[in-house]
Amino acid sequence: MTATTDVLIIGGGVIGLAIAVELKLRSLSVTVLVRDFPAAASHAAAGMLAPQAEQIPPSAMLDLCLLSRSLYPQWISKIEQISGLDTGYWRCGILAPRYTQENRDNWLNQAQIRQYQPGLSTEVVGGWWYPEDAQVDNRALTLALRATAQALGVNIRDGVAVKAIECEQNRVTGVRTNEGMLSSDRYILATGAWSGQLLSIPVYPRKGQMLSVRAPDDIPLQQVLFGSDIYIVPRQDGRIVIGATSEDVGFTPHNTPAGMQALLQRAIRLYPQLQHYPIIEFWWGFRPATPDELPILGASPYYNLTLATGHYRNGILLAPVTANLIADAIANQDRPLLKHFHYSRFLT
Ligand SMILES: Cc1cc2nc3c(=O)[nH]c(=O)nc-3n(C[C@H](O)[C@H](O)[C@H](O)COP(=O)(O)OP(=O)(O)OC[C@H]3O[C@@H](n4cnc5c(N)ncnc54)[C@H](O)[C@@H]3O)c2cc1C
Repeated sequence: MTATTDVLIIGGGVIGLAIAVELKLRSLSVTVLVRDFPAAASHAAAGMLAPQAEQIPPSAMLDLCLLSRSLYPQWISKIEQISGLDTGYWRCGILAPRYTQENRDNWLNQAQIRQYQPGLSTEVVGGWWYPEDAQVDNRALTLALRATAQALGVNIRDGVAVKAIECEQNRVTGVRTNEGMLSSDRYILATGAWSGQLLSIPVYPRKGQMLSVRAPDDIPLQQVLFGSDIYIVPRQDGRIVIGATSEDVGFTPHNTPAGMQALLQRAIRLYPQLQHYPIIEFWWGFRPATPDELPILGASPYYNLTLATGHYRNGILLAPVTANLIADAIANQDRPLLKHFHYSRFLT
């Protein structure tokens, strides 16, 4: 058995990499095992940092999301400084247009919402403006996190797939991989939608299809549009990301005509001039969903295995706070917020 490092992280998406960087900055030696870097949901996402536009009700989850959004500016500048790479972080705000009147505070009427965003569908009757919600280019972020981890000396092992987690009583003794057994003092499971394949926890894939188009040179959108069934995310480099479907089809790959048709129809309905923009790309990914749509963070049935999975629709948003909480858990520092996301809530 090859002894590796203080901490062995299974999974190299945004969650595994963010934790690796945080632990390394706290002077631990870290290895990250990555079966398939491009397959991560972290590459497929839209990169919205949208606790308010998502209308998460007051709860520990909302506290977690707001805390993470507030950590973003400093976290990003650290990553960009160490990696020398741009992440496309943009505090652009999110506009949430609606086709039906809703009775809640701060509602913008039709005339007001048109001032925020000319060119919206004539069907839009009003909506909300969330100036503190933001976005990051999640692909650029994932690459920058990886470069940061490497610059700090994290050992990233691509193409290493964990086949099984070997345990004795309440302790993990090692992980069986396609390159043999690996062992470590501590283990972290950050395998996103695939987590249920390694441990008996209820995490399963929720497929999302996406596409992007190219905006004209005088970019008409300067904020995210978050409709009731579609979102339109303008990037600073002129791409406009459009998403997403939400499908319960296991790990079925590929884009489908029905998926693309739904996205295009909804996007054109909300912002009609999109119909003229050239299409750049279609792709899909698998959100790590849980039965209550909350992440699973912290302790596991094994004292040396920590869980950081099930981030569902908000894993890009939750990366900095997850890294912080999990690094504290590894250091045995008490973080009361973690108890709301304990795996035991699923035990009958
Ligand atoms: C279409 C879509 C849109 C989204 N939009 C947003 C958004 O706007 N904002 C937001 O905050 N979130 C969004 N999300 C959610 C977000 O992408 C995820 O919550 C987040 O990326 C999860 O990160 P992760 O690191 O846990 O998992 P992943 O990014 O999926 O990474 C998991 C990693 O584990 C590796 N792995 C799996 N099994 C093994 C194994 N046995 N051995 C070794 N390695 C393994 C995989 O290869 C992969 O590298 C979106 C997701 C999708 C699909």
